[in-house]
Amino acid sequence: MLPDIDVIAFSFGIPYEAMFGHRGFTHSFFFAVLVGAAATWHLLHRRGSDSHRPGSHPHRLALFFWFTAVTASHGLLDALTNGGRGIAFFAPFSDHRYFFPWRPIQVSPIGVGFFSPRGLRVLASEAGWIWVPSAIIAVSARLFRNGQT
Ligand SMILES: [Zn+2]
Repeated sequence: MLPDIDVIAFSFGIPYEAMFGHRGFTHSFFFAVLVGAAATWHLLHRRGSDSHRPGSHPHRLALFFWFTAVTASHGLLDALTNGGRGIAFFAPFSDHRYFFPWRPIQVSPIGVGFFSPRGLRVLASEAGWIWVPSAIIAVSARLFRNGQT
């Protein structure tokens, strides 16, 4: 959800197509790497965490890639939506906006428009294209792991 914090740009008069406008910098791969590093650092340095020394945590690289991938997935999924502006994947190095050629997901209305008939169609679209496939993958992975032990 963090990348969509950029909707506050609208209230500061920052235009949609600007580097720090909606679907700009916070939807970029660069931002995903920053969040991946910050989230990993936070997890390894929080008070009362396990006994590993932060610098020697065996999964720190995996955690970094996980948090980076989770954050980057937001922009990648936005690029599959059928509305709004494209995604500035390469901000701050380029402000070019990208979409994938195939865009099956209904774009979500911004703000209170979410609670409307259109908002329900968006939820149904997201359920079909994202939530149900994700749940199937998660359950399959769980069953596969349980089968291995
Ligand atoms: Zn977004």
